[in-house]
Amino acid sequence: MIGKGVWSAGAMTDMPPRILLLAGTEEAVRLNRLLAESADVSLITSLAGRTRDPAKLTGDVITGGFGGQSGLDAFLRQQSITHVIDATHPFAAQITSSAIKAATSAAIDYLRLERRPWTATAEDNWIGAASVAKAAGKLEGFRNIFLSIGRQELSAFREVRGKQFLVRSIEPVAFDPAGSTVTFLQDRGPFSMDAERALMKEHRIELVVSKNSGGSATYAKIEAARNLGLPVLMIERPEQPACRTFEDIDSLLQALRLGRST
Ligand code: NAP
Repeated sequence: MIGKGVWSAGAMTDMPPRILLLAGTEEAVRLNRLLAESADVSLITSLAGRTRDPAKLTGDVITGGFGGQSGLDAFLRQQSITHVIDATHPFAAQITSSAIKAATSAAIDYLRLERRPWTATAEDNWIGAASVAKAAGKLEGFRNIFLSIGRQELSAFREVRGKQFLVRSIEPVAFDPAGSTVTFLQDRGPFSMDAERALMKEHRIELVVSKNSGGSATYAKIEAARNLGLPVLMIERPEQPACRTFEDIDSLLQALRLGRST
């Protein structure tokens, strides 16, 4: 349980801390459960609303966004939020930018939960790309490509010609590149290394394109590529403004408890 009266700056009142949790990741689901179980906090959890059947969340849940930073400014004020905990995906740059600005402008605490990026082992063959758009320009020499980047940024590959893409996503996708063919798979992880390996063999994959999401849920594809000796075109995370960032839930909860200003 989270300690009472030991919250960080701006929250030392008789009222329980009122937290806005920005969700959309597995870690956010776990954090939602832990915070919702605590009698010492009041919690609102927020989802973008991209997934039709999201993982179950506890307590008050809102969906659909705030309407940019100004909408979030108003929401924080109206709901008397004392802490914003941002547990969105490392590639969800827009909401993180809005949340940092809105929390700063409201003079309330902002804490970011962001898992560590993956790093290449000696057996990995990674090709770096600074962004999804840059990755689309680095496919020369490969034909059968596993485009494992989710569905929202596939349009960056719309003009790529002469490829056979394998695209897997939780929700159906609209992706119809002009000069390439696409095989769609609708499926939700986690996937085992053996299953990923079999999938790559079945589709004669020559290159895996992945965001550097970090975490264990989607790491099996990276292990499978390593196992098969396949290169991975690894897309780096977008740059974010400096902010209080924690790599795991325990350290974030610990910082809340101690009221540290790390
Ligand atoms: P984004 O580009 O940073 O955000 C686009 C807009 O979606 C934001 O401006 C905001 O709308 C709304 N939004 C995003 N996350 C929200 C949240 N937790 N609560 C309320 N509104 C939210 O985000 P994205 O890359 O589209 O990702 C959308 C969601 O999917 C995020 O929650 C993220 O954690 C999750 N996700 C993303 C990826 C990825 O690769 N990008 C992968 C896995 C999961 P308003 O401006 O109207 O407030």
